Amino acid sequence: MTETLTPPTTTVGAASPLALLFDIAREIGVQGEDEQRDNAETAALDHIWNAYPDTLGKVLDDVDWSGRPALAGAGLEPSAVAYLDGGLWLHHSSDGDQDRDVLTLIAPCTCGNGYIDTVLDGESDLLQVLTDLRATGGRFPHNSDDLDCDSQRRLREWSDTRP
Ligand SMILES: [Zn+2]
Repeated sequence: MTETLTPPTTTVGAASPLALLFDIAREIGVQGEDEQRDNAETAALDHIWNAYPDTLGKVLDDVDWSGRPALAGAGLEPSAVAYLDGGLWLHHSSDGDQDRDVLTLIAPCTCGNGYIDTVLDGESDLLQVLTDLRATGGRFPHNSDDLDCDSQRRLREWSDTRP
């Protein structure tokens, strides 16, 4: 931070809500990047065990997930990615709120220019997507109305170097 904040001139009362909030903030603190990575991996595992017990829950272990800290500049929350093979990825993010799990499957586009992603809506949705992908050799069909197949950019934002 390069901005200089002017310290407030008012004093904070000992038991005021603000003083208590300052105490809470000091105790809880701000998550470090390692903690964000660990929490992101745990959240991804919890989600697939709960929502995809017969598919992803059977094939993905904690070592498969790679946590990413938040990228405030890019507006990205902490997340975890798992490489599945053949250029296919899973991406999981949550808002620290288990109701807000977002699991995305990312697969190469048939045009070869990048990736297309789809948010998975449970195990039967995943099975349908897998059935479709199996028929196309693990590639999502290119749709010229959909500009999203340049989303390889996003993998770079996650600073991922794997294929
Ligand atoms: Zn494409």
